[in-house]
Amino acid sequence: MPNRPSGTRESRVFCHICLQIARVFATALSDECFVTLGSTEQVLSGCGVHFTFLLRLTGPTWREDGLKKKEISLLKPKNRTYLRAFLNDSLYPPLELVKKDTVPNHVGLGRVLDADWIDHATLRCWYERCRQDHGRECDAPRYMQGLAPAKPSLLVDTRTNCLVSARLGVSYIALSYVWGQVDCFKTKKSMLAKLKLPNSLSRKHISQHIPTTIRDAIRITSILGERYLWVDSLCIVQDEDDSRQGQLNQMCAIYSHASITLIAVDGANCQYGLRGFKGVTKPRRLEQEVVSIGDGDRCVEHIFPLDCSSSAPYYQRGWTFQEQVFSKRRIYFEKESVRWECSCSRWYEDLEFGDRLDRSNVRVWQTSFSKFYPCLNSYSEMVQELSNLNFTYKEDVLQACAGLTSALSRNFVGGFVSGLPELFSTSHCYGNHGKSAPEGLIQDDLTLLKHQTLCPAGLGLVGTVK
Ligand SMILES: [Zn+2]
Ligand SMILES: [Zn+2]
Repeated sequence: MPNRPSGTRESRVFCHICLQIARVFATALSDECFVTLGSTEQVLSGCGVHFTFLLRLTGPTWREDGLKKKEISLLKPKNRTYLRAFLNDSLYPPLELVKKDTVPNHVGLGRVLDADWIDHATLRCWYERCRQDHGRECDAPRYMQGLAPAKPSLLVDTRTNCLVSARLGVSYIALSYVWGQVDCFKTKKSMLAKLKLPNSLSRKHISQHIPTTIRDAIRITSILGERYLWVDSLCIVQDEDDSRQGQLNQMCAIYSHASITLIAVDGANCQYGLRGFKGVTKPRRLEQEVVSIGDGDRCVEHIFPLDCSSSAPYYQRGWTFQEQVFSKRRIYFEKESVRWECSCSRWYEDLEFGDRLDRSNVRVWQTSFSKFYPCLNSYSEMVQELSNLNFTYKEDVLQACAGLTSALSRNFVGGFVSGLPELFSTSHCYGNHGKSAPEGLIQDDLTLLKHQTLCPAGLGLVGTVK
């Protein structure tokens, strides 16, 4: 099958159909290729190699009587490397050809992964490549311009295993996770001095109360070559109201200035851990679909198919929504696998470097934050998104909106009152006093404010307390 670079002729021909499949895989990245293989009946009568492959590609339904006369086609979309089967108006999940390292210029990009362990080098390589190749676009993305510098008061020093006072501008990794219905160890005023003593976090009577996800994040921080970690339960003194409030107000700044955010999607709570780091954390349980297609070639199904939506608890929470949106580089621990997102790229553990060009939802939100005029449309969409999410405590609803509005205040002169922008006072909206619209305000925004319901935090309409 297709173990020749694009454009060269396949020498080991199995059959006409196999050759067609090889041709589709070998299509140049910038081209689209659509090939009709024939009716399923004709295709079924061919050789066993493509028979097995197509059976895996489309599932058993194609052998049903009603489908025998239907044509089966293969599609490689433009700017994509995978192949999809098309039969009876249904498009089947994409399959990626696995790269054969022994064959020079092999066209495959898929990777067969270890079911238990993640290759540490992959994560370091992503970080390295982003810093080297993407520069300011990922280091100081446009949406961060004008945001106040982050002033986390405490950080976990992963070298000395204790809490330290944060120096301004120091590089740190942040953790975004859900607490879930379990007790989470929290820093209190009375224990702060002890937690600042070297190795305090590894002492048994403390470490056994620290949830697995946080303990794993501490170790992964050093694997990524960083020294400091910010995690809310340890780095915010929970019973010191003023400092707690100060830190909550700058959550957006803290996440946006983190060099990377580790995003723990897997698991219902913070005891699940960040699995798959040999010698460091528990093994993962990855199930990857691998399809043999003859001559030693294999294909893999994407772990993260296009347009996949997830019902994981992580994506249902109000806090984690904004933590994601403000993070400039994100490593997702999801579906027992890892993936990378930054302003320029999305990389996957099961794919060689080859940027998938689809945009993540987070990038869409970040783009709306990149506007430098008071865009009510973006604000309204953000509030609507928050209104579908869940919060543990009623007061969190206000806090989450406060985080977003403090970040948006750079555009909305006068800030926000009860979740509504001061800039758009009623008189401005309805023009009763003959005032012109504030500079930068576009007509669409005015219309929106008149006709669409904003759900301001102050009215208690945002989010579900759950
Ligand atoms: Zn064949
Ligand atoms: Zn980048």
